[in-house]
Amino acid sequence: MSYLAIFATVLVLLNTYPLVASQDLLFTSKRDSLKSQAAVMASALMELESLSSDQVARVMNMLDSMGLARILVTDPAGLILYDSTQPEEEGPEEGAPPEYRYALYQEVVSALRGSDVFYSRYAGRVFTSTAASPIVYRGMVIGAIYILEIDPAQGELLYNLQQNLRNISLVIAAVTLVMSTLFSKVLTARIAALLRAIRIVGEGEYGHRLQPVGRDEMAQLAGEFNHLTDRLQTTEEVRRRFVSDASHELKTPLASIRLLADSILQTDEMDPEMVRDFVGDIGSEADRLARVTEHLLALTRLDSLPAGDAFPVDTAQVTERTAALLQPVADAAGVTVLLDLKPDCLILCTEDDLSQICFNLVENAIKYNYSGGKVFVSVHRDGDQVLLEVGDTGVGIPEEDLPKVFNRFYRVDKARSRAAGGTGLGLSIVRDTVRRHGGWVTARSRNPEGSLFTAGFPRYDPEEDGKGEGL
Ligand code: ADP
Repeated sequence: MSYLAIFATVLVLLNTYPLVASQDLLFTSKRDSLKSQAAVMASALMELESLSSDQVARVMNMLDSMGLARILVTDPAGLILYDSTQPEEEGPEEGAPPEYRYALYQEVVSALRGSDVFYSRYAGRVFTSTAASPIVYRGMVIGAIYILEIDPAQGELLYNLQQNLRNISLVIAAVTLVMSTLFSKVLTARIAALLRAIRIVGEGEYGHRLQPVGRDEMAQLAGEFNHLTDRLQTTEEVRRRFVSDASHELKTPLASIRLLADSILQTDEMDPEMVRDFVGDIGSEADRLARVTEHLLALTRLDSLPAGDAFPVDTAQVTERTAALLQPVADAAGVTVLLDLKPDCLILCTEDDLSQICFNLVENAIKYNYSGGKVFVSVHRDGDQVLLEVGDTGVGIPEEDLPKVFNRFYRVDKARSRAAGGTGLGLSIVRDTVRRHGGWVTARSRNPEGSLFTAGFPRYDPEEDGKGEGL
């Protein structure tokens, strides 16, 4: 509709302008020629000094009427002295009283007042033009000449031009109408397809895709839609897997508890030592359940809650405190924890988050280690970053598993992880927490044995911050 409106406006302008311009051109040329004809006649009559019907008729007969429809000559009072439409032969009879006729045209009146006038009108395919000039003798207006021209030929020309323009416009309008109808049909169909696709995906069918046709905006829109749906599908798959993994993780200890409880109930006169063992196992399974739920909650919090207020935290101090917390675990496993902590390693974080990262990494380094093994914990600056490195001389991680250890519920050695009370979520929590504070974390194999985890954070510089505040 908007295209049509624009085209209609353009067509109207295209139609009107040439007509007005050509009408104007004709008007100007007519004015020039008629005015000069009137002037020539006036100057011929001016020679007569005073005008009378006979003298005027004589002069006028000598002049060429040049296709004019009517020529009138009047005296200063507007009394017609000569009228070309009433030739003398048909004039009043000899002796009859002279016929007093006055030319009371607007043009004549103006000419008698001393001005040249011209008037032109185009109607009914005919150009009608009139001109009048005063006849001046020694500064006195002694009469006026009025000429009338009726020009059907030029009028016809103008009319034909008008017709041709109208026909061309009609053809253009018809073509535009057809084209814009087709165009809007195609466009509407593509928008409808996109809407349908959005609805289908909205109803949960994430596999639905559009076929982008061409390279226009609609094709780009279809491409973007597909891209968005891809991401939606991936997110949905991750979510489903997470839910199924999580329920599996929760089901396993629950099944063990159920089994152990049933065994105690169904076995008559069970050895008290065995009952104590079973109840102990129930307790460990309950602990595992608690750990899994705690980790799941931690991950959900990381997903849904915004990062808390971050303050400058000394990485070395927090690492030292966390390592001290884990010392009894290291002692029990026969593992030595060696610290190499440099000062001035401030980062913007929360103590809880940093402590959680450190705890999980060091705990893993102890868990997946041999008795008599070592854990190296280092905090140092590297350019504008602070690095927390946790290396061990433990079991190590196969090269192909390295990129996957940060995935949720991923375990290299399931039995060992379970035996060590692992949930498969510790490293996911580390990765999400580190990223929350603008950092990164990697896992590598350590030479000649064990693994090395490195977490990097943007270093916080109090001086720079002070400068910033001063500005
Ligand atoms: P888990 O609770 O099982 O320890 P994590 O997410 O902390 O889960 O770690 C995922 C897996 O990565 C572990 O199951 C283990 O197989 C492997 N892993 C993590 N840290 C180490 C390490 N320091 N040495 C060897 N393997 C490790």
